[in-house]
Amino acid sequence: MKNILTVDVEDWYHICDIEHILPPSRWDQCESRILGNMEKILTLFSHFKVQATFFILGYIAERTPEIVKMICSEGHEIASHGYGHVQVYKQTEEEFLQDLLRSKILMEGMMGEKMIGYRAPEWSICSGKKNSYWALDLLAQHGFLYDSSIAPLRFIGIPRAPTIPYPLTTSYGEIKEFPPLVMRSPLGNLPIGGGWGLRIFPYRRIRNTIDRLNRLGHPAIIFCHPSEFDSFSPPLTLPWIKRFVCYGKIRTTEERLIRLLSDFEFTMMRRALLG
Ligand SMILES: [Zn+2]
Repeated sequence: MKNILTVDVEDWYHICDIEHILPPSRWDQCESRILGNMEKILTLFSHFKVQATFFILGYIAERTPEIVKMICSEGHEIASHGYGHVQVYKQTEEEFLQDLLRSKILMEGMMGEKMIGYRAPEWSICSGKKNSYWALDLLAQHGFLYDSSIAPLRFIGIPRAPTIPYPLTTSYGEIKEFPPLVMRSPLGNLPIGGGWGLRIFPYRRIRNTIDRLNRLGHPAIIFCHPSEFDSFSPPLTLPWIKRFVCYGKIRTTEERLIRLLSDFEFTMMRRALLG
């Protein structure tokens, strides 16, 4: 059973909801840290001879095009993380489509082939007050075969959404949804597939959750970010919750990934979907 390894390729300042601290108009003045961190990730994956899906932010592909080349040359999959890192539910359908196509056209031009996968900033395809299910129609209409934007979590996702890959019907055909790994608990699902959850919860519990999923024939979906491989302290005064989510026990990410790569087999989403 192969699990699925993914990276959201964005820089240290691509954090949602901090426009009042660092507006996107100032991104160009921020130090770019992405190359060094991506080299660490690619070296790690190459050591384990594993291929992954990289959801690249269009802004990064435009500002640092060598990133796209580095990832492609190692045989990994390129997918879209949108262009400007705005949550889907904060955009109109027209704004979302422009952001999506800007990233798609830019990166397809660089790699010379069609991309088929999308992941929204901060798992922001949601239901209820933040309803943004319409984005799935637009993704399917524009050739995307899979999405990985619906987290089965409280607060940032849809708590009762399926926790294993599943098909969704859109007006333009089916699209496959790949949710991030979660662990059930009396408090609801906990995010252990990446970010603070992967760093904080005991490794044994994460490993057991993946073992159980794999025995049932389902892959676990793991994700990480380049800034989790950096010892740099960002010059941002973030609210404590953001600081915890982005940087709590940050040095654990690499150690956890090494253990996961040692204990399990991984592949990219395209291959899990199409074989
Ligand atoms: Zn992101």
